[in-house]
Amino acid sequence: MKIKNIFEQKERVVSFEIFPPNKNFSEEKLKAVTAELVNLNPDFISVTYGAGGKTKGGTIEMASYIKNILNTEVLAHLTCVGSKKSEIENFMKEVKENNIQNILALRGDVPKGETEEIYDRGDFKYASELIQELKSNSDISIGAAFYPETHYQNNDLVDLFHLKNKVEKGADFLVSQLFFDNERFFSFREQAEKLDINVPLVAGIMPITNAAQIKRIVELSKCSVPKKLERILEKYGDNPESMQKAGVLYATDQIIELFANDVKGIHLYTMNKVEAARDIMNNIFFAR
Ligand code: FAD
Repeated sequence: MKIKNIFEQKERVVSFEIFPPNKNFSEEKLKAVTAELVNLNPDFISVTYGAGGKTKGGTIEMASYIKNILNTEVLAHLTCVGSKKSEIENFMKEVKENNIQNILALRGDVPKGETEEIYDRGDFKYASELIQELKSNSDISIGAAFYPETHYQNNDLVDLFHLKNKVEKGADFLVSQLFFDNERFFSFREQAEKLDINVPLVAGIMPITNAAQIKRIVELSKCSVPKKLERILEKYGDNPESMQKAGVLYATDQIIELFANDVKGIHLYTMNKVEAARDIMNNIFFAR
């Protein structure tokens, strides 16, 4: 099913994100984890593509497993940084062969060991160009990324303008970078509405279950950490069990407030872990 149709049919949409197998996370383990995630009844699961400059690979295989073996809707991520048109065509051929109907179309970042020259080496400089390509040559439902606290390479207004361009080129829904401060999301939504960006805005939520994790996340995403979360980290950060519980409750609080303010979709960054996702799904069952 196309994800744009899921948004049309359901009042609230909850999705999970996983990353493909790698040297620290075997395919066998990931398949077991994904089967448990499917049991939590998400509306769809997304599979990242070479995120963090890692090797591209495993996205289609995992997406196909979720769609065709676990019978759950799937969103395959795809980045275009440094890619030739033929590589995108080959990827899309496999997408079609595997009955995958949804792509999150992204630019991607400079991979490790490369320089910014890579942005000019491929056939697509920005995600909007990839979206245009996918829209012209396939019948896929397309999602794109957005940044409630702005993308690190731009300021708010310019970034919003580029976001509108992605919607005009064919993005059916938008998934956000993770954030911990709902007010940032709400004020972004207000600005987006003023620009007539009218597709569903999905809120990316990551439960912080381990204090060490947050430093790297903030470095990568440049998202702000509200005082409330800072105090939780100070108080419970040294106790893994308490931190896990506090992180789940913080994310639950965020989601309930988002739903209460008519946010249509929540995308949980699971980091291939089941426990926090399960606890959050139990906590929010009444709000879905
Ligand atoms: P774009 O929309 O192309 O924007 C990139 C920058 O260029 C922005 O600053 C924008 O304002 C600017 N820009 C856009 N158009 C123009 C223009 N015409 N002229 C000048 N400037 C312009 N990365 C991965 O590698 N793999 C993944 O699986 C992955 N999944 C993600 C999932 C989500 C939900 C999110 C939010 C991000 C994900 N990323 C992933 C990270 C993403 O690839 C990076 O954040 C990347 O830096 C930007 O990608 P984009 O698609 O938003 O790019």
